[in-house]
Amino acid sequence: MLKGKTALVTGSTSGIGLGIAQALAAQGANVLLNGFGDAQGAQAQVAAAGQAHGIAVDYHGADMSRPDEIEAMMAFGAQRFGRIDILVNNAGIQHVAKVEDFPVDKWDAILAINLSSAFHTTRLALPAMQAANWGRIINVASVHGLVASAQKSAYVAAKHGIVGLTKVTALENATTGVTCNAICPGWVLTPLVQKQVDAKAQAQGISIDDATRQLLGEKEPSQQFTTPEELGALAVFFCSAAANNVRGVAWNMDGGWAAQ
Ligand code: NAD
Repeated sequence: MLKGKTALVTGSTSGIGLGIAQALAAQGANVLLNGFGDAQGAQAQVAAAGQAHGIAVDYHGADMSRPDEIEAMMAFGAQRFGRIDILVNNAGIQHVAKVEDFPVDKWDAILAINLSSAFHTTRLALPAMQAANWGRIINVASVHGLVASAQKSAYVAAKHGIVGLTKVTALENATTGVTCNAICPGWVLTPLVQKQVDAKAQAQGISIDDATRQLLGEKEPSQQFTTPEELGALAVFFCSAAANNVRGVAWNMDGGWAAQ
């Protein structure tokens, strides 16, 4: 379905980004990966997912808190693949503290990585998408783009912000073949969430299993984690012809979290 298209997935060396990159590769898209950590391992997994289509996979290590490095990555993508057709803004970090205790440098980093980076990639990707009259921008927001939780001021602010950016980008391109939508997951068991489970277990002197049950029980009615594979399938749907007129939605996949 996506043969001949190229997808850039930010923060795709682990977790949700890696899952989405694999799902797009399995549909035949070439993939440009980004993120810290095991880039080679991620490249190998994505190449394997797209093996039947003979896709090309490459990597750029831009720090998504740095506009100059984002610009270099977008230039690299254009030069390597001709154009980015599918942009998945996924890179994100978390920090948990009350507003009055929230470290200023963490606030700045979360806003830069979880929100401003998507503005930069989007502004740089749009002209080529508009010229081709086809493009897909998928912003990995969060259920925290729709509702709040205590101790997550920067994250909730950034995620509400990216839902807003999604709507504006969708509106400005509404008469074109370029769509922009957001995905709003509830809990997904990735390194980002494992850290929160571990912190809970340590703070309360309980086991990891009990901390996991408590985490799900507090917010997620299904009592189940959403998986990167399920989120990848939703991203594939947004890229399909059936989603040509899906514009500016914030689609939660949250086990009923925001329905409460
Ligand atoms: P993760 O920690 O597994 O992955 C985060 C990715 O972002 C990694 O590839 C990491 O290297 C990359 N990254 C972090 N800082 C970066 C930077 N400065 N520059 C470039 N890359 C950077 O986390 P995840 O859970 O897969 O999160 C992915 C996205 O999904 C985030 O935007 C997160 O907010 C969102 N999300 C996660 C959950 C969840 O429950 N895990 C729920 C809702 C939304």
